[in-house]
Amino acid sequence: MHNLIDQARIDRGLWWQEALSLTSGCTRAGAECLNCWAEANTHKRRTSNFYAFLTDDNGRWNGNVTFNHEQLKKLNRRKPTVFAVWNDLFHEKITLEQQKMAFDAFLKHPEHVFVVLTKRVDQMEVFSEWYRTNTGLEKFPPHIIGGTTAGTQKMVDERISVLLGCGFSTTVVSIEPLLFEVGIEPYLEHPDYEDGDKLSWVIIGAESGPNRRKCETEWIKNIVQICDESKTPCLVKQIHDKNSKLIKKFSDFPESVKKREFPVIQQYDQNPLFADMA
Ligand code: SF4
Repeated sequence: MHNLIDQARIDRGLWWQEALSLTSGCTRAGAECLNCWAEANTHKRRTSNFYAFLTDDNGRWNGNVTFNHEQLKKLNRRKPTVFAVWNDLFHEKITLEQQKMAFDAFLKHPEHVFVVLTKRVDQMEVFSEWYRTNTGLEKFPPHIIGGTTAGTQKMVDERISVLLGCGFSTTVVSIEPLLFEVGIEPYLEHPDYEDGDKLSWVIIGAESGPNRRKCETEWIKNIVQICDESKTPCLVKQIHDKNSKLIKKFSDFPESVKKREFPVIQQYDQNPLFADMA
């Protein structure tokens, strides 16, 4: 799937080609949300219609959350594209019917890749069961990547096991922002681990922004190592140097964390048609 993303974007640590802002507004759902980038960005642009009435005078989410179905028109483009689905499609204020509208469209467009990240895996699970029961779909196809964010061990343990039961053929955990040392071994392929669905992809990143919380490169190195051992693709988006300065440039990374890998999705990686269209 990396064929579908401009190399200049990958060089900056970006793993998607285009945002699909199906949801506007949000509310906090865990420690990772403290310095929410989407909230700051929305507040900065609040004079434009798309971003209006979503934040309060202090620049915090005000509780309004909307579904932007018109964004689905973006899927009609000919060029196969990796879409990151923002903000959280599984927010409590987004209905099952709206989520269905999104997934119906994703299924109709296998030429694209959709990365659907949520912190609300319980809502994702409810939707997945409801949708698959109603459509008879056993598993979502590989071009719809189901994912969760987990920056602490508690969130790793609470969210990944639920994600893995949601019926996705391709799964990702985004460990960004990484706030403490975490272990993800039980969720990766390994001869010694129990059978079952495992993560297909791991994204790791230190926090960005003026209030970024410290992230040790050693913590990232340990995750990279376990991904290597289990042959799980791993993408290190960004790290901190010893003064907590953000580093995104791959060539400035220490060798031990130089990883920008993507999962193999047969449809894109082994079909010359998609290579030609990209
Ligand atoms: S779920 Fe995402 S968009 Fe929503 S508050 Fe948390 S970081 Fe922000």
